[in-house]
Amino acid sequence: MKKFNDIWVFIETTNNQTKRVGLELLAKAHELAQEANMKAIPVVCPEGSFAPQSIVAALKSAITDEQPFAVLFGSTPLGKEISAGLTAAMDLGIASDCSNIIYRKSEDDFMFIRPTYDGKLNATITLKTYPQVGSFHAGAFPLNDKTPDMDLNKKILSIEEDPSLIKSRFIEFLEDSGLADSDIESASVLVAGGRGVGSAEGFDLLRELAKLLGGNIAASRAAVDEGWISKDYQVGATGKTVAPKVYIACGISGAPAHVVGMKDSEIIIAINTNGAEPIFDIADYRIVGDLHKVLPELISILKESRK
Ligand SMILES: Cc1cc2nc3c(=O)[nH]c(=O)nc-3n(C[C@H](O)[C@H](O)[C@H](O)COP(=O)(O)OP(=O)(O)OC[C@H]3O[C@@H](n4cnc5c(N)ncnc54)[C@H](O)[C@@H]3O)c2cc1C
Repeated sequence: MKKFNDIWVFIETTNNQTKRVGLELLAKAHELAQEANMKAIPVVCPEGSFAPQSIVAALKSAITDEQPFAVLFGSTPLGKEISAGLTAAMDLGIASDCSNIIYRKSEDDFMFIRPTYDGKLNATITLKTYPQVGSFHAGAFPLNDKTPDMDLNKKILSIEEDPSLIKSRFIEFLEDSGLADSDIESASVLVAGGRGVGSAEGFDLLRELAKLLGGNIAASRAAVDEGWISKDYQVGATGKTVAPKVYIACGISGAPAHVVGMKDSEIIIAINTNGAEPIFDIADYRIVGDLHKVLPELISILKESRK
């Protein structure tokens, strides 16, 4: 396939809000584009709700017509579904769940970096096919003042729903259910609980603090495995990757498989009874104490300060 000069970034929206991971990727694509003398193009769906298969068909047609150099996706449920469908439909290679991307001038391609073995090693992946397709987890790249305006060069896909293609369909957002609440990747504050929380009811304290801070709750796999909270809230190697402004780890030891999913948070606060736990190695603020005593105090201070 002939290689043109655009790096497309697939931008997702939820409830009319652009997902942060798309903007992070656009910032990185802009940087790469300058380095490689290309253009970064945000690619968006028109208003409305479309089946993933229809989006794949529209992307395939646009790619065939315009032959971009690369197409980058966020590692979100939709991003994963579309990137997998697209690469299968076009017989392309893909590097999934990456944390970095480097332009290799000598080969005129990208090197995709993907954490492996619980984040202890990085795998470098190159693709033989164009466009080069990769997906990236939230927080892999910072938002900065160089993030280009979304409307600059924006490409709106032309999507036609073909009923014969559709295999699944989005129905609705469930505002008040636990599921609708579990978009932890977009939260700017996360209050995360681990085995130290002790019970499902123990998460009520975390919920109260999260609500006061305008954030959400999250969990370690141990808390999920105990059945105290749904897997939708799990952070880590086999859960979600998050990068909020503030991550408050309550009763979490800081195992590598957990840390790999939250280490890019801007500020990490750890509350743990054992001051020797590895979570304290990456924490910016360390509170050695029982979370069942520390959290009520924090909550009461916050409430008091808002009177
Ligand atoms: C293939 C694989 C994939 C995995 N994927 C994930 C993943 O995606 N996410 C994930 O989190 N883990 C994952 N794990 C599991 C991971 O290795 C750890 O076992 C897990 O993260 C431990 O969770 P935890 O810190 O809540 O529990 P623990 O390690 O048991 O730590 C509990 C902590 O709570 C503290 N504590 C106890 N009581 C209190 C109290 N009252 N107040 C304050 N602190 C208290 C203790 O000092 C301790 O530090 C994975 C493991 C494997 C093998």
